[in-house]
Order: sequence, then structure tokens, then C-alpha cells
Amino acid sequence: MSGSTTCALCPRMCRFTCPVTAATADETATPTAMMQTWGLAKDGTMGWAVAADALQRCTGCEACRTPCEFDQDVPSMLYEARAEAWEHEAIPAGAKALHERFLRSGNPFGADLDAELETYADPADFDRKGRVLYWPGCRELAEQPERVADVMALFKALGADHVTLPARDDVPGCCGGPLMAIGDRAGLGVAAAGLHQYFDRQRTWVTGSGSCLTTVTKGWSSVGQEVHAEVLHLAQYLLFFRDQLAELGKKAMEIAEPALPTLIVHDACSLHRRTARGEAVYDVLEAATGLRAEPFGPDVERTGCCGAGDFHDLTRPEAAAQVAQWSTRDRRYPATARVITGDVGCVSSLRRAIPDRVPVQDLVGFLADWLSPVLRT
Ligand code: SF4
Ligand code: SF4
Repeated sequence: MSGSTTCALCPRMCRFTCPVTAATADETATPTAMMQTWGLAKDGTMGWAVAADALQRCTGCEACRTPCEFDQDVPSMLYEARAEAWEHEAIPAGAKALHERFLRSGNPFGADLDAELETYADPADFDRKGRVLYWPGCRELAEQPERVADVMALFKALGADHVTLPARDDVPGCCGGPLMAIGDRAGLGVAAAGLHQYFDRQRTWVTGSGSCLTTVTKGWSSVGQEVHAEVLHLAQYLLFFRDQLAELGKKAMEIAEPALPTLIVHDACSLHRRTARGEAVYDVLEAATGLRAEPFGPDVERTGCCGAGDFHDLTRPEAAAQVAQWSTRDRRYPATARVITGDVGCVSSLRRAIPDRVPVQDLVGFLADWLSPVLRT
């Protein structure tokens, strides 16, 4: 039995874990309903346009995998389903708008990513020979490009002054993750082919984007491109410099004598369930502050989806906002709370859902802040 048939015949065992179904009260968003829809479109009982609309109701969070007896990878099946819908020219409005922006600008935000990189990077950051690449990804460059300057300053302070940024102009700013999410497999293939050799020339490839991490480690193989460079999340790379981080943290605290915060880590779906790299975020924070952060959810497995996974915030913004509200609804925040996420892709959605009085930062945003007394000198 195929994976999609297993879900289609399942009595919706994962129904209550799905944030989209719960937040939007939409029974067509369960894996069972979406796989049944796919089957109906395949056998001609349902039109592909109607099916394509139903097949996009997923943030790729993999929460359904935890209770699943069959360890089903629902997001990957949906990439297949959407690709099939795409071949039938069935493209929902949100996906179409994203795709048009991508065709115009090379990214789903319609932003000039080269200009952002130019503004916040030092010219010397582009041509080092250390073969360690920091890849900001399209969302970081579009939504908080100043983070590029923060991360490079942090690397230098830690002694990692060999890290390079993607070469300007001739290297696209997006890995193709948004195209994979909407079913444009040919577009993903073009994006992967355009970047593959450049990435593989690196010894180590580092990113703070969960979406890029998932696309490069899993999505690219679906279009025949395997990356042989070491692929790391930013927190994993920073742990190579754990002692230096602790030393900087100690000095910063001696200078600023800050009030101790309550650190709350939003365990991004992309880092925990999808790529199993999230623990490093806690370790980095502990090295820099001496404090062990608490998880945002009851435990790291039951964390809240921010709604922006698989660019759901661009294709279905209202549903994505409802997911973020639903996922954060029961959280209480002490006065000293600071919410930190390891995925730069979650920051904007979490900020919109969490009360304004609670700072929400990505990992480097927090470190730039916390270590500012020593990074400024
Ligand atoms: S993911 Fe697992 S639990 Fe959910 S519908 Fe599919 S088979 Fe059932
Ligand atoms: S991956 Fe997440 S959003 Fe998608 S069906 Fe599973 S639980 Fe729902």
C-alpha cells in the first residue's frame, strides 16, 4: 500500500496534532482528507483545480508524524501531490502569486536580495578562501537583512573570520524551497542546479533558515542533486566555538551586568521534527549566558507551529496567522521572558502572534543583543 493510501484509509489518528486543522477548524486539512483528495483527483473523480486548493493546507510541521503508527512523511507526500497538480496546471491563487514574484525577482518576496546583501555586508566578506559559507536564505535577506551584519560580526568575534557570504550578483539568493512547497518541481530543479556546484565547492555550508536546511538536505535529492559539503544549522556551527562564546558571554555580563532573562526557546518544526538539529540552539544559549532555556511548548516535541512553514504565510496568510495564534494561545510569559527561535523563518509570524511586551528574536538577533558590549569594542 502506498503512503498516501495509508493516510487516505486511516481513521485520522493524527487529527488532533495538526495545527492547521485545529486552528482553522478545517476538516479538509487533515492528512487523511488531503490524501483522499489527491486520490480522487488522480482517478478523475475530482477536478485538479479543486484538489490543488485542498492540497496546500499544510505547513510541513510534521506534528502528525509523532502519533503516526506508520511514521508517515506527510509533507513529502504533499510535495509530490502538488507537483502532480502543477503538471495539470492547477495552481491555487496564493501559490500563483508567489510564483509570479519568484519569476520577477528570483525569490518569493519580490525583494532585491542582492541590494540587501550589498547594504549589510562588508566587501571582504565575499571572497574568503575558508570554504565555509554562511547562507542567509531569501527570508532573512527580505525580512531582516541587518542580521547578515550581526552574524558576520559574531563569527569574527569568535575567531571564525574565514566564513564567507554568497558571492554577489552571480549566486541566486533562494535555494528553491518555496518552489518545492508549491509544487513547481521544474523550478526547484533549476534553482538546485544553479547553486549545486557552488555549494559543493564549500567544505561547510551553514544557515539559520530551517526551510533552506530542509530543501538542501531533502528537497534537492528529489530533483537529483546531492550536496556533499557538510550541511549545518547555524547553532551547530557556533558550537565549534563554544569556549569562545562562553568567554564573550562572561565578558559581556561583566560589562553590562544585565538582569537575567527567562529564555524560552521556540523549537521550530524545521529544526526539531524535520532535521533533528534543534538541541544545539539550547546549547549555544547556555554557552553564551550560562542559563538553560525552557521550551516554548510542554516539551520540545510538542512545540507550536508558527504557521510560516513551507511559506504558508505567503500562500495562505490568514490561515498561517490563525495557526500562529492557536499555537501560542496557552503560553504564559514571565516579565523577564525572551522568546528565541532557531529558525529565522519563524520570527515574523511569532512576533505577530505573541504579545508586544515579549521580545521575540532569532538566535543571532539575541546573541547580537546579549553580546553587544563586547561585539561593539
Ligand atoms: S500521518 Fe499517520 S496517523 Fe496521520 S493520517 Fe496518515 S497514517 Fe494516519
Ligand atoms: S505536517 Fe503539520 S500541518 Fe501538515 S498535515 Fe501534518 S500536522 Fe498538519
